[in-house]
Formats: sequence, C-alpha cells, structure tokens
Amino acid sequence: MWGDIMLESDSQINENCYQIDIQQWGVPRVGTVYVVKGEKIFLVDSGTSQTTEKVLKTLEEFKINPKTINTMIITHEHYDHGAGAAVLLKKMPTTMVLASEKTAEILRDPSMFEETSKKYYGEAAGLVSPYPPVKNVEVIEEGDSIDLGGEITLEVVALPGHTPGSIGLFESKTKTFFAGDAVCNYNQQYEFYMPPSFPELFDYETYLKSLDKILSYDLKYLCMGHFGTQKQPKAKQVVKKAAETAKDWKKIISDVYRKTKSEEQVYNKLLEKYGDNEYVKNFPELIRKSVLGQLIKGYIISLKL
Ligand SMILES: [Zn+2]
Repeated sequence: MWGDIMLESDSQINENCYQIDIQQWGVPRVGTVYVVKGEKIFLVDSGTSQTTEKVLKTLEEFKINPKTINTMIITHEHYDHGAGAAVLLKKMPTTMVLASEKTAEILRDPSMFEETSKKYYGEAAGLVSPYPPVKNVEVIEEGDSIDLGGEITLEVVALPGHTPGSIGLFESKTKTFFAGDAVCNYNQQYEFYMPPSFPELFDYETYLKSLDKILSYDLKYLCMGHFGTQKQPKAKQVVKKAAETAKDWKKIISDVYRKTKSEEQVYNKLLEKYGDNEYVKNFPELIRKSVLGQLIKGYIISLKL
C-alpha cells in the first residue's frame, strides 16, 4: 500500500505509524526513530544528539509539527536512542519523556554512561555523540498501557537483555511492535544479522528470552532500532534468525576465546565467516573494528569467558 516500506528510509508504515531514518554516523539505514499517531502524537526514541535536525526535517516532510508531539518514549539507555531527547526538547518544550526506570536513571545523569561508551568505542570514540541530560523523565513499566486516543494504545513490554532497561511497545490496533534494539542489528539489503551485544549492559540468556517474548505477540509490523520495519511473515523470521545468529556467535566466540584468550583472533574468525557480506565490507574499517570488537567484548563479559 505504501510501497516497499522495508527499503525506504523515511516512510509511513501504516495508518498510524511512521519510520524516520536518523542517518546515524551519516550513514543511511543504520538508525531509526518512529512516530505513532493517535489523537496524540508520540515519538519512539530520539536518535543521537547529532541527528535531531534530520528527525525534525523528516517530521516536517510527514507534515507533523514538532510542537504537537505529546510524548517521547525512549526504548533503552544507549546514546543513539536517548541522547537526542534533550536537544529535541528545545524545539518541543511541552513534550513529556517516558522511559523504564533503568533508562530514566541514565537519561537524568548520562555522564558515567557516556564515558563507558567512549572507552569501548576506542579509536572510534568520536562516533559517540554527546549525551545531554533530561531532567524530567516519567517512569513506565511492563504492563502499562498508554492511551494516545483514536483507539491507539501502546502496551509497555519489558525486553531486557540488550540492556537491562530495554522495553518494547506494542500497538494492538495496527499490530505494530516497536522493539528498540531487543532484536538485533539487521540489514535487509544484504540480509545481514549482528547480535546487539554491546558491553557492559548485554546479557546473553536474558536477551534470548526477550526474543521469545516478542515472538509470542500477534504482530504484523516489527519496528527495529537498527534498522527499520519488517512486515509479517518476514518480521518473525527476522526474530528467529536473530536468535540463531546469537547462538552461532556464542559458539564461535566461546570456542576461539577459550583457546586463545585473544579478542583479535575472535574478530578474525568472525570476519572469516561474515566478512564476505557486502554490508560488513562497506563499513569503514574504523567503525567495523570498533563495533564488532564491542559486540565480541559484550559476549565475553556476559558469558564470563
Ligand atoms: Zn542499543
């Protein structure tokens, strides 16, 4: 009805939901912010503090005045979801911010978190945007149902694993599930999957349980942080493939790291298996090394290798 929403960067997903490509790190189809429109208009996530202009520009293209945005819900702690909030609030000063308790803690005081992120990004620390604090954050939790009017509601679903504070939001009228980063990093164009195992917040076993929880929903659209929306039946296939990939990575990382205690050897082994994928090839080496290195580290910490 709205064309191939899966490959469009900015698109209307269905009657009530829109997808915005934040062009994270200046790269298309890496990061997403979503809009849900009932009688009230909500943003799901804020992007980084450096992608807010893109969000505002796309809202304009969708003919949505930022000042009419009632609420922003931040799906989890990471800077590419929450760091844009304080910047956007300058353009929408009456907008409320909602998040899980753990995410709210980081939004109110991101300083420690910002330092930890930069440490793990290593040479690519410049990719981490500043994370200005948000003073007023209201806490939401599993089971809360948020009424946007016009028969549109968002049910809060706890999805820990990617981070402890991760939540999803399920809109039952349109059957749209906003999953934050709880599924994986997925690129449709190159059919590439990466577990979202950033240190130190990732927990492997909890993450797999959250994938099962997502599968239990009667969803039609799956909206992911990285990147974009998938429609059924592909949506649930992506969730299943995310679980398979996570298990494959666990095996490779455990085997190689136990033998060698070398993160570099693990990196080389993963590149041997996935390095031919154009998506991996196309990433600048600095980003590829930093991101893959972090995902490996997240496994090592979580699995106590
Ligand atoms: Zn994340």
